[in-house]
Formats: sequence, structure tokens, C-alpha cells
Amino acid sequence: MEKNFDTMVADFKDYIKRIKQYNDALGIIFWDLRTGAPKKGASDRAEVIGMLSTEMFRLATSDEMAKYIDYFTMSEQNEKLDNIMKVLVNESKREYDKFKKIPEAKYKEYVILTSEAETIWEEAKNTNNFALFSPYLERIVNFNIEFIDIWGYKDNKYNTLLDYYEPGMTVDKLDKIFGELRAKIVPLVASIKASEFQPDDSIFTKDFDVKKQEEFSIYILEKMGYDFEAGRLDESEHPFTIGITPGDVRITTHYYPNLFSSALFSSIHEGGHALYEQNISNNLNGTTLCTGTSMGIHESQSRFWENLVGRSYSFWKCYYQELLSIFPEQFEGIAVEEFYKAINKVEASLIRVEADELTYNLHVMIRYEIEKALINQQIKVADLPEIWNKKMEEYLGVVPPNDAKGVLQDVHWSGGSFGYFPSYTLGNIYSAQFCNAIRKEMPDFDEMIGRGEMLKIKEWLSEKIHKYGKLLTPAEILMDVTGEEINPEYLVEYLESKYKAIYNLK
Ligand SMILES: [Zn+2]
Repeated sequence: MEKNFDTMVADFKDYIKRIKQYNDALGIIFWDLRTGAPKKGASDRAEVIGMLSTEMFRLATSDEMAKYIDYFTMSEQNEKLDNIMKVLVNESKREYDKFKKIPEAKYKEYVILTSEAETIWEEAKNTNNFALFSPYLERIVNFNIEFIDIWGYKDNKYNTLLDYYEPGMTVDKLDKIFGELRAKIVPLVASIKASEFQPDDSIFTKDFDVKKQEEFSIYILEKMGYDFEAGRLDESEHPFTIGITPGDVRITTHYYPNLFSSALFSSIHEGGHALYEQNISNNLNGTTLCTGTSMGIHESQSRFWENLVGRSYSFWKCYYQELLSIFPEQFEGIAVEEFYKAINKVEASLIRVEADELTYNLHVMIRYEIEKALINQQIKVADLPEIWNKKMEEYLGVVPPNDAKGVLQDVHWSGGSFGYFPSYTLGNIYSAQFCNAIRKEMPDFDEMIGRGEMLKIKEWLSEKIHKYGKLLTPAEILMDVTGEEINPEYLVEYLESKYKAIYNLK
């Protein structure tokens, strides 16, 4: 007997929930692997990841899924669906079409490879040994090229990967946006370098007790509205956020006993990601829409908190006293103005995650260009260290002394995340656009931060962005909140006015 419409809807939701639950389990395993799981268990764990991913893959590409998609895309049924169901069906269809084309065994092989590669990458980085990681990376690149050939592409192979993280983004658009940004940032960085005034950031390289650093990170995260009953803060090699469900969103940071600024700003950054995941509407819980809509929008949230809030003068006017009470000796005699300038020091450097918000975008452009060339088979993995160092010199005027501080610094490629890096700069661009929109509604935005009213800002972001999860596309959110498409001008305006003031430039 044919099932009726309501039963089909309920069954489909149960089915989706199972997929989401496999994903939840995988998330916890990944979190565990990066936060202190024993090294010798890594290869066994990789098999568990392979098994769970395969099950998830089977559910997403099964004949049963095909039946649901066929049923709900028929106009007669489709008209009766509510908005969440419509988007859920579309999203499921997108995943189905994407993965159905890849043979199951191949997908499993890829998942196991990337899981192992992450452990190898960590070892290669720690021992400064690119040759150890190189064969893994080569296989990962080849897999990606093979997948793109299976999925198909328009104009440029890299477009398929870009679209995966930022639906609608293309090489053409990105070349234009990045080009505009580069044209403004490079001269600004040059005039900053030539400025007579240079902030003194050596104040951050004293001894900073790691426990106290953690204490201050927790203090700030609570002020931002990060819910510790729905999350936790741990340490890992590379800071990250993992949203299991809105009730379990975990963040990590990395403490350096002789570098105060790193862990704090990583905590604020990951806290921004976490606020997004913690505040997705309950209606979406248990569905695959219960996550950020794109990597670019996700990064806009982390960068908004890290830079536009956390590196603002108003923020430190409010919280500097608390910091002084935790580290009285380290910051003795240093005025808040001086501290503010020090956390905003601009200097070409080697490590992306330590870069200031201006030169950061140049680090991203280097990775974007390398990825584009790798995926289009214009360069070889074996030549990466040399290519990397050349580009660093060309863009930033610095050359890494070794590969650990060069081509091996980021985790992303070991996990096969090609097409992800541009999200960071897209996030910077979006964050400035969102901030401009907030300022229209809350003209005393700076004063509010100065009074420590960050919860109001969190609520605004949750109401306008977070709660929708994946229900709206990045372009829809941007249009709804700002009334505009992506526009790098707001970021340029923000950077120019902030840094001209700090460096006494005209
Ligand atoms: Zn981030």
C-alpha cells in the first residue's frame, strides 16, 4: 500500500536524522583525534572513521534516498512541503547527485587516506620533513582531480571545489574581488612599513602562565555569550570549532607560554564560529541544515568577533582592566592605547594564523593561487616548497627558513580541503559588510562594546544570520542583511580608516 504524504514526511525526517547522527559521531571522533587521542590508536581509529563515513555515504546515496527525492520533487507533493522540508530535499538531492557519481570503494579509500594524512602531516610539520607528507598530498590532489572529472565543471576545474564551500563562487569572481583588494592592501602595507611609528609588540613575548591565559579566554568567551553548558574549550595543535549539535559545540585553541596574543585571539575567533553553531534555530536540529550556510559566512562570524570586535579600541577600553588583574606584572606601565596599537601591529610574517588582519589576506591569496594551479595540473606537489617560498617573497617579502614554517604550516590540505582557503578572505569581506549593517541599526556600536554589551551584538547576529543555519544561501543572507551583493569596499574602508589612524598616515 502506498504510504500517505504525512508518513513519507515523517519517515524522511527520521532517515535524515540517521545521516546527521553518523555525522555527529564522526565529529566527536575527529575532535578526539585532535585533542589528545593516543598516537598509536590513530590507524585503528581511521578504520572506524572509514566505516562510519561509508555508512553515511550509503544512506545519502541509497535507493531509499532516491525514492524520497523522486517523491518529494514531484510538483504535487513539493507544493505541500513547508520551507524547511523543501530546502532539506534540495540539499539531499545535491549531496545525492554529488556522491552517487563516486564509486563507494573509492570514497572509502579517500576518507581513510585523508584521516591518515592528517597524522602524517602533524609529524612532518614537527620534524620539518616535507618528503614524509608529499606522497600523501600527491594522492589527495589526484583524488580531487579525479572527483572533479566525475562531477564535471564549468570554465575552471577549481570552480567545482569553490562551489562546494561557497555556493555560487567562481574563479572569475574571486580573481576580480581579490584583485580589487590586493590593489588597496599592498600600498597600505607599504606605507605602514615606511611609517615612523611602529607599535611595540614585544610586550606579548614575556612569560604568560598558560592556565591564566585559559582563564582570560574563558572570561571573554562568556562575555561574548558562548554557552559553556553547550560547549567546551580544549587545546589542540591547530585551533578549530566542531559543531555536533547546537547543544554541543566545542572549540580549541593553542597556548604559547611566551606569546600572549595567539591563544586569546584564536579563542575569540573560534568563539565566533561557535556562536553561529550554538544559535541555529531548534527547528533545524536533527537535520543536515543544522550548520553554517557556507564556509565564507562561517568565517565572517569568527572574523567579526576576532577583528572588528576583539581588536577594536572600544573592546580593550572595556576589558583591559580585567587583563591587568590577571597579568599585572607583564603589562605594568602599559596604557590601553599602547596595548591596542600592539595587538594591531602590521608586519609581513611567515605564519598565516599569526598574521595581522591586513597581510592575512595576502597569505590567503598565495594559497588560492597554488591550489588553482595544483588542481589544474600546472604545478607538481614535489615543487611546492620552492613555489611556496617564491610566492612568500613576492607577496610579503619574507622567505621561510624551513618547510615547517612554510608549506607545511596548515592542516587543510591533509584533509583534502582544497577550495577552503578563499573562505577566510571572503569572511573578512562579509564581516565588514555585516558590521556596516549593524552600525546602521545601532549607531552607538562602538560605545556598546565599550560598555561591555556584547550580548546585544550576539543577539543581532543570531537573529539575522545564525538562526537560519543552512536554510538560506550565502547570497540570500548577505542580501537580506545588507541589501547588497558581495562588495570588498567596506573591508577596504574599515582597514584604511583603522590603520591610517594607528600609523599616523594621511
Ligand atoms: Zn575560522
